Amino acid sequence: MKHIIILGDGMADLPVERLGGKTLLQYAHKPMMDLLAREGRCGRLVTVPEGFPPGSEVANTAILGYDLNKVYEGRGPLEAASIGYEMADDDFAIRCNIITLEDGKIITHNGGNLETEDARLLIDYLNEKLAKPINEQEGCERVKFITGIQYRHLLVIKGGNKHIVCAPPHDHPNEPWRELLVTPSSFPEGNTIGGKANEAPSGAVGGVLSPAATASLLNELILRSQELLAQHPFNIQKAKKGERQANSIWPWSGGYRPSMLTLMQQYPEIKSGTVISAVDLIRGIGHYAGLKIVEVEGATGLADTNYEGKAEAAIRALQTDDFVFVHVEASDEAGHDGDLGLKLKTIEYLDQRLIAPIYKEVETWSEPVCIAILPDHLTPVEQRIHVGQPVPFLIWHRGIQPDTVEQYDEVSCVSGSYGLLKLQEFMQEFMKIK
Ligand SMILES: [Zn+2]
Repeated sequence: MKHIIILGDGMADLPVERLGGKTLLQYAHKPMMDLLAREGRCGRLVTVPEGFPPGSEVANTAILGYDLNKVYEGRGPLEAASIGYEMADDDFAIRCNIITLEDGKIITHNGGNLETEDARLLIDYLNEKLAKPINEQEGCERVKFITGIQYRHLLVIKGGNKHIVCAPPHDHPNEPWRELLVTPSSFPEGNTIGGKANEAPSGAVGGVLSPAATASLLNELILRSQELLAQHPFNIQKAKKGERQANSIWPWSGGYRPSMLTLMQQYPEIKSGTVISAVDLIRGIGHYAGLKIVEVEGATGLADTNYEGKAEAAIRALQTDDFVFVHVEASDEAGHDGDLGLKLKTIEYLDQRLIAPIYKEVETWSEPVCIAILPDHLTPVEQRIHVGQPVPFLIWHRGIQPDTVEQYDEVSCVSGSYGLLKLQEFMQEFMKIK
C-alpha cells in the first residue's frame, strides 16, 4: 500500500453566521471529499501540542508523526533546509528578516515588499562587511548571511546559543525597536520549547557562545546592519523616491539542526517519499523527514496556485515513491485575508482540481493507494488567525470498511470511527494500513 496525505492548510473553520451557521467545509461544493468520506473512515485530530503556538510548522510536524517536544527547533533550521543550506551540528540558524524602521519604530516586517533580487545585493553586502571568520579558518565564519526569498533570509551563527528571546517583527508594527532587541532567556524557566534538544551543541568550532553572548552578538549585528544598509545605493534611491527602505536586519525564531529520524527510518514500508509544497517551512520539514522536494511550476502558495501541476507531480511521485505529502497553502491565505468567497473557492479547487485527478488516477492502479485528507489547523475567516482546535480528517483506500460519516466537515467527522486522535497517533494509524 502506498500512502498520500493531501493537506489543505488552514482549511478548517468555525460556524459562520453568513452561511447560516455552517462552516465552510459544510457549505462548499466538494463532491470528491464527500465521496471519500462516505466510502472511507473519518475522525478528528489534535495537531497542536500543549504549550506550542498553532503554527503551520508545528501542526505539520505533528501530522507527519514527530514529537514536537523532541524535534522543534523554530523556523531558521527549517528554512535553511528549504534554501538548500545543510546545517552543521554546531550551527545556530535563525530567520533574518530585512525590515523597515522609521523614527525609531518598526514600520513593516517586509522591508517595503523587498524583492529577492534586491535582497540578494543587500545580503551579499552584509556578508562582505559582517561575516567573521573563526580562528582564521577559511570558509568557517562565526557569522554568515544566506539569501532566501523576498524579505525572508537566514543568519547562521556557528556555536550560537538558542536560549535567547527574540521579537517576531510582524507582531510589533509601530513599536519602538530598541525595546525589542534580543535578550538571553532564563532557561530552563524561559524557552523550554524543544525539550531534550535544548542542549547547546558541544564541540563547536570556536566554542559555544553563552545565551548572553549570542544575544549581544545579534544586537551588534542589528545595529551594524542599520549603519551599513542606510549607506547602500538601494536605500539611497528609495529615500530619494520617498519609498520605504529595507534598512535593518531582524533575527527571530532560531534553533539547531533538528534531530529527526527520517520517515524511512521509522516506517520500514516507506522506501522513498516526496513532499510537494510552495511553502519554505513545509519543504524544510520534508527535508529533515527524508523526503525529496519536488518543484512545481506555478505553485504560489495562493489561490492562483497550479493545482493541476501539483496533482500531476503527486501522481508522478506516487509512481515511484511509497509516501507523498502534498501541502496546499491557499485556504490559509484566504482565511488570513478574511475572504469568505475566496476561501470557499480554495476548498472547491482543492476538491476538483487536485483531489479528483489524483483519486481518478490511483483508483485504477493495481498497487492500492491510501489517501488521507486533512487541514493542519483552523484559519477561520472571521477570526483571521490560526486556531489550534481539533481538525477533521478522512482516510480512504480501495476496500476500506466505511464508517457512518457521509460528508467531510468539522461536524460530520465528530462521529467518525477514528474518534479523536492526538498528534503522532494520526501517522501511526495511517501507516498501520498495509
Ligand atoms: Zn497552516
